[in-house]
Amino acid sequence: MEQKGKVWLAGAGPGDAGLLTVKTRQLMESVDIIVYDALISAEILSLIPADKEMVHVGKRSGHHMVPQEETNQILLAEALKGKKVLRLKGGDPFVFGRGGEELELLKEHGIPFEIVPGITSAAAVPAYAGIPITHREYTSSFHVITGHPRKDGTSRVDYPSLVNLKGTLVFLMGISSMETILIGLMEAGMDPSVPAAVLEKGTLSSQRRVVSTVGNLAKEAKKAEIGTPAIILVGEVCALADLFHWAEDRPLGGRQILITRPRENSSRLADRLRALGAQVIELPSIDTKTISPNPALSHAMKEFGYRTKEEWLVFTSPIGVRIFFEQMVEMKMDLRKLFACPAKVKIAAIGSATERELRERGLFADLVPAVYCAEDLGKEIAVAAEPGSRVTIVRASIGSQELLPPLEKAGLEVVDTPLYETIYETHEQIREKIQEQFKAGEIDMVTFTSASTVKGFVHALRLEDYRPIHAVCIGEQTAAEARKYGMRISISKKASIDSMVELILEEA
Ligand code: SAH
Repeated sequence: MEQKGKVWLAGAGPGDAGLLTVKTRQLMESVDIIVYDALISAEILSLIPADKEMVHVGKRSGHHMVPQEETNQILLAEALKGKKVLRLKGGDPFVFGRGGEELELLKEHGIPFEIVPGITSAAAVPAYAGIPITHREYTSSFHVITGHPRKDGTSRVDYPSLVNLKGTLVFLMGISSMETILIGLMEAGMDPSVPAAVLEKGTLSSQRRVVSTVGNLAKEAKKAEIGTPAIILVGEVCALADLFHWAEDRPLGGRQILITRPRENSSRLADRLRALGAQVIELPSIDTKTISPNPALSHAMKEFGYRTKEEWLVFTSPIGVRIFFEQMVEMKMDLRKLFACPAKVKIAAIGSATERELRERGLFADLVPAVYCAEDLGKEIAVAAEPGSRVTIVRASIGSQELLPPLEKAGLEVVDTPLYETIYETHEQIREKIQEQFKAGEIDMVTFTSASTVKGFVHALRLEDYRPIHAVCIGEQTAAEARKYGMRISISKKASIDSMVELILEEA
């Protein structure tokens, strides 16, 4: 029998990655292929692991939208191959999401499926604008309506009934027919002075709102050049936005920041920035591939420690620390043999994150340079090391060359041992989405923690022009690399996440 896959029809919420459900987030990690719409934000797409297949069935610049029929067929075909398929839709899959239609074909072919509800824009977008969709004093119901006209241009909306309900009205897909909708309501007897709002790109850093009245909203929205996606909200509660607005008021509210770090490393900075209200795209511009088996490392570690002079072990990244210890396990090299050796072992780390990674393994670095850069690390070791010491550096295969000359000049024996290769890789679709965001000026800052993250970023994104980018850099060397592309530079005082966050707050 043919092995059947399975489809999860899931909502991704309205855009803010924090509004993904736990279940959808877990599925993003566990499925084989993700079929997604145009409304899925760059922040959410950037969370998708590099090994997943991605199929975009929404509108893309220069491409047509994939017709619904074809999307249904894609889901079926992938499931029939035995794959686990995540069908990721904006908001909730059943709120004007055509989720029902996608299930029919699957059902017909006996493909197992699950439905994962999502946070619908109808509720979340007003909330992020500070508008309670119901309020005991003003309204006792809310109604979600499609503003999309029929094919022949006529409206599907029963205006008199809506006006009689006296609830809050939420129109999705109503921007192009906003005028018709508002006139329809007034002709059915709604007072033109009833508050109304249009809320654009809700829950995203670029969200905007226009709060007015049913009589004036169309004019005001036009003046503000409101675009899609947006919802139209009608009812007394709209006026409360003036009182309850909050999202833009957070320290980094309204800011979108792209961070470039190896994926496992980025979440701490991302968490900090998100807690301050920023929207964060985690571009894993550099990824790492462990060199294994690693004869050079094996040889270096067998030699390590059997001499009378000091033995220095130098780490230049947190990921380097992690891989080093993984490799020690892999090679069955007991730590007692490594450190309880005749020589005096000294440990150096390039910066505080690397130092922390060592500390978690019970090792306290003897030396961390005052300035986070490879050259200073080399210089400080050259001063601190006993003459004739050996310095074993365990790091990326394309490590910074600036580290070596100061050590060699001091007459130290240097063993430069590659632990991992750095690979630059980004899904084509993610690149496209992020390119669009840069073009639209929707990304306020990009953080770089090493020269190689700058290289990785440039390699992954291939932008035409880097000059409009505001680069927040750790260290001079990183800044020098970013400067090559004409970026606008800010440099954090210290080589730490804290210092970086402080700088971002100052610059925001
Ligand atoms: N299933 C989705 C709605 C799909 S219809 C949900 O539950 O949210 C698409 C419409 O949703 C858009 O035309 C717009 O009206 C609304 N929408 C979706 N995301 C939005 C956002 N971030 N801000 C404002 N409106 C949004």
